[in-house]
Amino acid sequence: MPDGTESESRKLLGRLRDTMAEEAAGQERLDKITHLTADSMGTEVCSIYLFRDEQTLELCATEGLKQEAVHHTRMKLGEGLVGRVARTGQMVNTADAPSERGFRYMPETGEEIYSSFLGLPIQRLGEKLGVLVVQTKDKREFTSDEIYALEVVAMVLAEMAELGAFIGEGAALKARHTQPAMIRGITGQEGTAEGHVWLHEPRVVVTNLVTDDPQRERDRLEAAVEELRVSVDEMLEGASGEQLEVLEAYRMFANSKGWRARMEEDIDRGLSAEAAVEKEQSVARARMSQVADPYLRERLHDLDDLSNRLLRILTGQGRETGAEMPADPILVARNIGPGELLDYGRSLKGLVLEEGSVGSHAAIVARALAIPLVIHAGRVTNEALNGDHIMVDGDQGLVHLRPDDSVVTAFRDKIAMQAQAQERYASIRKKPAISLCGRRVHLLMNAGLLADLPSLPTSGAEGVGLFRTELQFLIRNQMPRRTELVEVYKRVMDSAGDKPVVFRTLDIGSDKVLPYMKPTDEPNPALGWRAIRVGLDKPGVMRMQIQALLRASGGRPLSVMFPFVAQYEEFRAARAEVEKALAIERKLGHAVPEKVTIGTMLETPSLAYASKKFFEDVEFISIGGNDLKQFFFAADRENERVRRRYDTLNVSFLTFLEQIVQRCSETGTPLSFCGEDAGRPIEAVCLAAIGLHRLSMRPASIGPVKSLIMRTDLDALYDVICDARERGEQSVRESVLEYLRWNG
Ligand code: PEP
Ligand code: MG
Repeated sequence: MPDGTESESRKLLGRLRDTMAEEAAGQERLDKITHLTADSMGTEVCSIYLFRDEQTLELCATEGLKQEAVHHTRMKLGEGLVGRVARTGQMVNTADAPSERGFRYMPETGEEIYSSFLGLPIQRLGEKLGVLVVQTKDKREFTSDEIYALEVVAMVLAEMAELGAFIGEGAALKARHTQPAMIRGITGQEGTAEGHVWLHEPRVVVTNLVTDDPQRERDRLEAAVEELRVSVDEMLEGASGEQLEVLEAYRMFANSKGWRARMEEDIDRGLSAEAAVEKEQSVARARMSQVADPYLRERLHDLDDLSNRLLRILTGQGRETGAEMPADPILVARNIGPGELLDYGRSLKGLVLEEGSVGSHAAIVARALAIPLVIHAGRVTNEALNGDHIMVDGDQGLVHLRPDDSVVTAFRDKIAMQAQAQERYASIRKKPAISLCGRRVHLLMNAGLLADLPSLPTSGAEGVGLFRTELQFLIRNQMPRRTELVEVYKRVMDSAGDKPVVFRTLDIGSDKVLPYMKPTDEPNPALGWRAIRVGLDKPGVMRMQIQALLRASGGRPLSVMFPFVAQYEEFRAARAEVEKALAIERKLGHAVPEKVTIGTMLETPSLAYASKKFFEDVEFISIGGNDLKQFFFAADRENERVRRRYDTLNVSFLTFLEQIVQRCSETGTPLSFCGEDAGRPIEAVCLAAIGLHRLSMRPASIGPVKSLIMRTDLDALYDVICDARERGEQSVRESVLEYLRWNG
């Protein structure tokens, strides 16, 4: 880059900074910026278009176009060249704008006389704010240096908009983060909550954008990168597994010459060190929105994280902002680990994640905390500010930020209706779930954390049908010790009192990866080395766990269940481990449970076809519908594309479940169902109708499920299911819904 251009762009930045420093209204500032930019770049026109709502851009300031058009000329996203820049987030650079595809002539601006056009998006960290345009009469394409200069102006504009520098009259000049926003995500956990935003990671605010002293900024950047590098190396020392992979990527970026060189170039052109970091971060975010490959996206996320760390070092802004957590906090984060989430404890009213997945550990913890969760809420960490009024609709997967009065009223009505329903459920809490035809259905709850247990008395559950022991392993940074486990299991049994608890042994692998275990690089982890397969091949941990369970029981009865058993032999081998452990405990003179009941989950179709001997031998079976369904339909439960493709009420699946019911009834084997579907009222009544009379679900579902069972004639519903099957319907859902509607 020639020296002349370098100092030109620095000069322009210096002039922009002076403009910003002056006391002026928002409109005046915008006017000055268009004037300065046109003047510095030698163009006849410079215009700033800002979004007035999500779909509409408004001309907010111009040098060169007719002044009457300001705040009158508007275009839709995608309309004309300006709309195209806004929609795609990509530059348009053309010598002959009128002949460009999509050009729209706006007579009120007088722009017909201008030929060349350079338009750039004004965006901050991937969030679109508007479009910056320069135009000239003569036909010419803009050079890369000119593009660069305009890019820097666009960036400064975006930063200043964030700082509220352009607030003025009219919708397009409204203060940022003051307007209502609705963000559509995906349901992670049902329920509704109203409260105030608490950002897990508050954004860094960059106030110092421009510099006269590039050498000083280079030195600051160098010192900050060095500090970052040291901290990443320190973290790497204790890291393992997935964390190690992320940190290795961090280290790669921290050492990347290209990344550094680009930031140094920005500094030479007049940006401060932090503005240069943020510019790189914006580029990465823009790329992130276009990359489909999950691995690459992850790496871009890593780069984004690293930029945040660097910004925190440069600006001295830590996570601790000194702000007080509001009384009714709704946590907003890009993503969060289960341990971090648990640290917030029971104070949280809801959780909104920009990423996350339904089966993630954070989602499991959110379920345990019984708070609504919306995942994949795009842009939420950009949009939300600490303390913003927020309403979370976990049922619809919607988030309302700074809602207006009509939304608030509608939402509060919904919460009130849910509260009424809760009262109804509370009134039947102590009643048994008996259907209209007299069938008794046992409703139990799923649990996995001590935080779940207060729900046992309040939900009306008859016991814990599935205690997922892996959560105690997942929320720690290292393998829990046996004494710790004894303590946890003892507290679980104490809290349950005389209600039964079924402890499932460690179910790790697939989506549940322990941060402190060596990662296994498997092509298809859901079908890989997981659960009982790990337990039998490397029995150390399972033995420790079984021993902890036996000791925790202190003579009380104990139920143990093995996950992911695919054949009889695996069950026999696992049971032998329990028997061995019992013998050792007896030998050591420890109290052993008065009775140990040993069962298995049925999560692979193969086990449904095991020999009759197996069904006679096993003391109970619990159908893990989440896994069983994914293997039955060959549709990954974690993959949003296919997860919902096959209905649980599909006749093939129901018929298959019915066969399992039949096999168990032939041998008198107690059978239950503990997948998520047990907690969905429509699914639950269908499961009960085909003979699954023991259902284990999340605590919040017990009320709604019981209420529907008590109002349903399960025998008649079974006939409805058989008729639908007979007619060749693919799913019985419609017929079932119609029947239930007819019967109130
Ligand atoms: C299941 O697969 O249905 C189940 C209950 O186990 P998890 O969801 O923990 O895999
Ligand atoms: Mg499972």
